[in-house]
Amino acid sequence: MNTTLIAATNNPAKLKEMRRILGELGIEVVTMAEAGLDLHPREDGLTFAENARKKAEAVCSASGRPAIADDSGLCIDALGGSPGIYSARYGGEELDDAARTELILGLMKDIPPERRSARFRCAVCVAYPDGRRVEAEGLCEGRVLDRACGHGGFGYDPIFEDSNGYRFGVVGADVKDSVSHRHHALTALAAKLKGEDPKC
Ligand code: IMP
Repeated sequence: MNTTLIAATNNPAKLKEMRRILGELGIEVVTMAEAGLDLHPREDGLTFAENARKKAEAVCSASGRPAIADDSGLCIDALGGSPGIYSARYGGEELDDAARTELILGLMKDIPPERRSARFRCAVCVAYPDGRRVEAEGLCEGRVLDRACGHGGFGYDPIFEDSNGYRFGVVGADVKDSVSHRHHALTALAAKLKGEDPKC
C-alpha cells in the first residue's frame, strides 16, 4: 500500500502514535501544518465515530486530499461512561493532562478495585475528496488505577492498566502500540483500505 493521508489532529502525542502504527502498515501520515493547513475542526458530534467523520471530512474538504481522523477517549463504568467523548476537555479546557487524571482519581477515590473497570475507545475515519469514507473502531479493556503510575504515553495513560496488566504510563510505546484501542482501530482501518483504490 502506498498511501499518504493528512492527519486531522493538533494533538502531537496522538499524531506520533498514529504515525508509528500506520507507518508499520505502509501508510504515511503528514501533519496539517506540513500540508499548509491551520484548522481546528469542530468536535460537536455525539459519538466517537461522528466526531472522527467530521474531523476527517473538514480536513479533506479544506485540502482536497485524503485525510484521516482519530476520535478517542476513556470510558469509565463507575462514572457512567465519562469522560468518554469529552475526554480531551473533561473538567474544563484549562486543565492539563496531569490535572485531569487527578480529577478522575479524586472522583474515584472510594470506588473499590472490582468496580474500576474502564476502556479506551477509538474511532478512525479516512475521508476522500470523491466523498468515499472508510471507518473503523477499536477498544482496549482495562481498569483505572488508584494512583498515577509512570510518565509514559499521554492523556489518561498514567492511570490506566489494560486487561493484560500493562500499565500504559509505565510500558514502552512498542507495548502500548501493540495492544491499544488505536492499534486495533488503525489495523482494522488498514485492512479495509487495502480493499480500496485511493487516489492520493
Ligand atoms: P480527541 O482529540 O477529542 O479524540 O481527544 C482524545 C482525548 O482522549 C485525549 O486528549 C486524551 O485525554 C484521551 N485519550 C485518547 N487516547 C488516549 C490514549 O491512548 N491514552 C491516554 N489518553 C487518551
